[in-house]
Amino acid sequence: MERTLQILKDAVENTHLPIGVYTGEELRIETANAAMIKTLGKGNDVIGRTYFEVVPEIEKQHIFQEALQAYKTGIPFHAKDKRVDLLMEGEYRTFYFNYSFIPLFNAQGKVYGVMNTGMDVTELHLAREEAQSTSEQLRLAVESSGMGTYEIDLLNGNITTSGNFRSIWNIQGPITNDTIISKLHPEDIPVREKAHRQAEHTGLISYQARIVNEDQSVRWTSINGKVLRDETGRAVKITGIIEDIGHRKALEQQLREEAQRSNEELRRSNEELLHFANLVSHDLKEPVRKIKTFISRLRSVANEGLSEKQEWYLNKIDNTTQRMQDVIEGILDYSGVDKKRRPVEKIDLNEVLEEVKTDLELAIHEKDAAVLNSWLPEIEGSKVLIQQLFYNLIHNALKFSRPEEPPKITIDSELVEKEGSHGVLIRVQDNGIGIEQEFTEKIFTAFERLHSKDRYEGSGLGLSLCRKITEQHGGSITAAGMEGGGSVFKIMLPMKQAHRTI
Ligand code: ADP
Repeated sequence: MERTLQILKDAVENTHLPIGVYTGEELRIETANAAMIKTLGKGNDVIGRTYFEVVPEIEKQHIFQEALQAYKTGIPFHAKDKRVDLLMEGEYRTFYFNYSFIPLFNAQGKVYGVMNTGMDVTELHLAREEAQSTSEQLRLAVESSGMGTYEIDLLNGNITTSGNFRSIWNIQGPITNDTIISKLHPEDIPVREKAHRQAEHTGLISYQARIVNEDQSVRWTSINGKVLRDETGRAVKITGIIEDIGHRKALEQQLREEAQRSNEELRRSNEELLHFANLVSHDLKEPVRKIKTFISRLRSVANEGLSEKQEWYLNKIDNTTQRMQDVIEGILDYSGVDKKRRPVEKIDLNEVLEEVKTDLELAIHEKDAAVLNSWLPEIEGSKVLIQQLFYNLIHNALKFSRPEEPPKITIDSELVEKEGSHGVLIRVQDNGIGIEQEFTEKIFTAFERLHSKDRYEGSGLGLSLCRKITEQHGGSITAAGMEGGGSVFKIMLPMKQAHRTI
């Protein structure tokens, strides 16, 4: 018996659960374990004093009455997560306890004291409060943002929602998969299905879909969700957010329309500009030709009798007129290329290249350039345009060469197939001054030049004409600067043309 009592005493003393026994009506502290002494917070000297003496601050708090009540009635009292304010080091501090007052009976069945246990759950209480307030804030945020949230239990199919989910979907009754599908725009049902299928792999759901309102108008929504899995990796839940994006869609549409309008205006004003440039160039063609004729007449009349200075001036006039003629022809070529339909013919690109080399013979010779090409295929198109395309590219490669290095121009090709149609990818590569990445698109715009006229002559129309020609053939052209110098132009051209003229 003695031994059992000792074990019990030891157990009570060493448990983390605060335990105290108060006897008599005045609740005198008969015993209190270390945990209880710590909880009372009034030092070690508590045994023999009354409960009220040790914690007088509880006089006006429910806990004191509850202790007395348990003593008087013999009915145990249990509280869960209840607030008690204790005076500690001269300061009131708020605690939350799970506590009990359990009456202790003597042999005669009369209450002689109460056993008090009190577990401090303050931290838990505060954490729960914080979690509650965070989830409340989140709920308010979701509601005020106009969004709705949903959770699909994949095991039983139950759907729980919050926020504006119902009002967005316009659902009054129970929410099931079928009610949701019945509200979706028929074209968007496969979109939803695809998003759910993809989520099986990615774990994420993201799609936009239209909900059909009762008046048959539609409402654009964006749905973003996540698949939650259990510890075995089985998908158990989908949780997500739905948002009404009608405003965003309307804004996007407005921006698209505005962009389309300004594109259209730009195209029209470009066309007008080109038309004007075409008229002016036409009118200038004849006078320029006359200037050239008269320069040559002047030369023959003077018959070697020109002074060095006069000869110098005449050469200047001649060169400037030549430049004027080039620009005029460039403008006429550019503005006229898509005005006229040309017959489609078979073009041997090797032949085209040989002709271009012959045209540029003088410049190739002067610059000591090497123009090398591998075998090129036969394509369909307008030969004069394709010749113009290669002429412009090789002419540029000669023109934008580096003074210290003779130009080396290589042309090679590769047959490509895309979605059943065959084409050729041609690369025209040089070792010249190169093109910086940020300008590789800009150079295809009419009249755009990266260098001053004083260093390199030109009209800024050559590459825009190349683009027009490739596009007219159903192809494309892009440019890139190369590491270590030089540029490469990549031209895609289809092997066959669908029509007899282009
Ligand atoms: P132009 O040659 O008459 O100036 P283009 O439209 O043919 O006009 O070319 C536009 C600009 O692109 C040129 O002024 C030049 O700055 C750049 N460019 C064209 N081809 C090359 C090239 N092979 N190497 C470096 N820069 C080039």
